[in-house]
Order: sequence, then structure tokens, then C-alpha cells
Amino acid sequence: MSNDPSIAAIAPLRGEFSCATTEIGFLHQQSAVILRDLRRGLLLSSLFYLVFGAADIAALGLEGAAAPLLARLTIPFIAMACLYYARRPNAGVRAPCHAASAFTLLWGASYFVVISYRPGDILLHAMSWAVMAMVIHILIPNRLICAATISIGATLAFLALAWHQHAVGTRFLTSLTMLLICANVFGVTVAQRHARLWREQYWAQQVLTNLSIRDPLTGSYNRRHLNAGLLDGEIARARRYRLSLSLIMCDLDGFKKINDTYGHHAGDEMLRSFATLVQTMTRDAIDTVVRYGGEEFLIILPETRLDGALELAERVRAAFAEQRVEVDGVQLGTTASFGVVGAEFGGSHAVTPQGMIALADQLMYEAKHAGRNLVRAKQLGQRVETVGRTG
Ligand code: GH3
Ligand code: MG
Ligand code: MG
Repeated sequence: MSNDPSIAAIAPLRGEFSCATTEIGFLHQQSAVILRDLRRGLLLSSLFYLVFGAADIAALGLEGAAAPLLARLTIPFIAMACLYYARRPNAGVRAPCHAASAFTLLWGASYFVVISYRPGDILLHAMSWAVMAMVIHILIPNRLICAATISIGATLAFLALAWHQHAVGTRFLTSLTMLLICANVFGVTVAQRHARLWREQYWAQQVLTNLSIRDPLTGSYNRRHLNAGLLDGEIARARRYRLSLSLIMCDLDGFKKINDTYGHHAGDEMLRSFATLVQTMTRDAIDTVVRYGGEEFLIILPETRLDGALELAERVRAAFAEQRVEVDGVQLGTTASFGVVGAEFGGSHAVTPQGMIALADQLMYEAKHAGRNLVRAKQLGQRVETVGRTG
């Protein structure tokens, strides 16, 4: 998650995140809620719309009401088709919006059929239409821009029809027009407020989650995130798709001495510079850097074979050994030791997160004992040890 506040900006008119990536992330994360609301919205609207067929029978008799009843009867089937479309396994994040738009358009068209058979009841239709406009804006989850375009467009068509037919006097037509304008304005206002509040709540939750899984000093992930199943998830994915997975355990050398000589703030700067270096040298949104302990970091490298991980560890080792951090006018530098473990999931041997971490830790300590500023690497399940290079 980026610190850039502009990615959380909400466009006031559309009620959506201005940043397309944030909006897609929001829709993706909320997809279960959106689908649940869509199901509820479509089923409730279809049910009530169908029940109001009783008014057609009362006005036209059973035989005369055949066509309007048929128009009403199509709506539950259209609702089911739209729900099926939105809930397909490979449906995109915008599919529920497309389904909502298709349903509301066809619902409006169906109601025009009913209206055309009962022109004398235009006042009753206006009241129903006002409720439908509110439902389109509030109950059926859709993009505000789509819901407003469909509802306002259909309302204008309805008003044009009502004024053209002039079945009731101008006084009633004026009231009816005002009623429908109110329904649409209130609908848009409430939908806009809901869209904004929903996104603000989502973003606040994202910020809190991010705070709870990040180390404040270095910006790396913390142990809590690792323990919440990060490595288990990567192992499960690698196993499912028969991929490679590598881990690097790193520990800064002689770090206590830096603290003791230059103070903790100098040590903090050193930790920050190491973490930044590792973060810039690893792949965004693929690799994960975890602050495993005080001055120990764990790098998780999905879809990476041992040779690739060893090469990365060696590049980080060399770059860090060269790096200097200026604290209170003094140029400070140190080195780090690395343990690298690679695992291939095409084979049958068991791989556990604990097993991988323990081996990476053991290799890192071997690098320490062999003189520090070293990389030690090993393929999990193999006897032969690859010896890393010194700087
Ligand atoms: P080695 O080369 O064997 O790794 O020795 P070392 O001095 O790096 O390791 P040791 O385990 O003896 O000391 C680690 C030190 O890291 C001790 C602890 O006070 C310090 N430390 C842990 N967390 C932090 C932190 O957040 N900031 C600072 N400044 N120091 C920290
Ligand atoms: Mg150390
Ligand atoms: Mg240590």
C-alpha cells in the first residue's frame, strides 16, 4: 500500500476512488458484499414488481391483464440471468455493475409495457416510478453514474409520455413531475453519500490493516504478518502449481557495536537503510521483506529457484557492504550475513514453513561462524551445500 494520499481521493460526483487501481482493489475486496446486495436487490424488486400484478388484474380483469402480467413475469427470469452473469466463476469485478444496469434497463422497459395498458392510472404509475427510482439508486448496487443515467433517462421518458397523454390535468402533472424530480435527486444524493462512506470506511480499514502488519521503523512486514500465514500461503501456492520458492535470512554483522558506539538512533538509521536497499532490490508486490527480529530480515521469493535467490543475496551483500549511512556527520557502514534456502515443489518431499526458516537460520549462522559478510545457500532436501562467495 502506497503512502501517496492521492490514491485514496474520492471523486465527489462519481462517488468512486479517483485512482482506477484503488477502485478495482475496493471492488475486488468487497465483491462478496456487492454480490450479496445485488442478489437481495434484484430478488426483492422482482418479487414486489410481480405482486403488483394484482393491480393490473384489478384494473383490466384477468384476460385484459395478460400482456402486462407477462411483462411483469419476465422480470424474475431477467433477475436470475443477471445474477448468473455476475456470479460466474471468471466474472470480472465490474460484472455486478453490468448486471445491475441490464436489470434496471429491462425493468424500466417492462414497466412501460404495464403503463401503456393502464394510461388512466398515470398518478399511481408516477408513485410506483418514484419508488423504482429510489430502488435503482439505493437498493441495487451499481455505479452511481450508471444508476443515475438509467433512472433519470427513464424518468424523462416517463414524464414525456405523461405530458403527451395528458390523461390527468396540468395540476396533477406538475405534482407528478415534482415527485419524480425529488425521487431522483434524493436517490442520487443518498447513493453518493453511501458510495463515499463505504469507500472511506474501506480505506480506513486498509490503513489500519497496513499499520498492524508493518514494522514502523523499516516499513517491512512484521512477524505478525508472517505468522498470519504468509509463508504457509506461498508454500501452498507453490505446491499447487509445482513452482519454486526461496527464502533468504539476513542478519546485520556487528550491529550491537554500532549501537554501543554511536547510539541507538545510528543503529536505527542503519536498519532503515538495509531494509530500503532490500526493498528496492526485490520485486514489488511479488517478493516480501519481513523484519524477523531486531536486525534480522527474512526475504520470501516466490517462483524463484535457488540460483536466482543466491544471486540476489550476493548482490544485496555486496551493495550493503559498500553502502555508507551518514549519522551526525559520521559515515557508518557494516556488512550482513545471509542464509539462502531453495525449494522445488515438483518433488514429493515435505516442506514446512518452520523447516524452511530453520534451515535459512542455520545457514545464516554458518555464514557468521565462517567470518561474516558471507552467503550460504542450500537446496531443501539435498545434501550438497552451495557455498556462497565472500566480499
Ligand atoms: P552478529 O554479527 O553476531 O550478528 O552480532 P550483532 O552485534 O549484530 O548481534 P547481537 O545479537 O549481539 O546484537 C543485536 C543488537 O541489535 C542488539 C539489540 O539491542 C539491537 N537491536 C535490536 N532491535 C533494534 C532496533 O530496533 N534498533 C536498534 N538501534 N538496535 C536494535
Ligand atoms: Mg547481527
Ligand atoms: Mg541477530
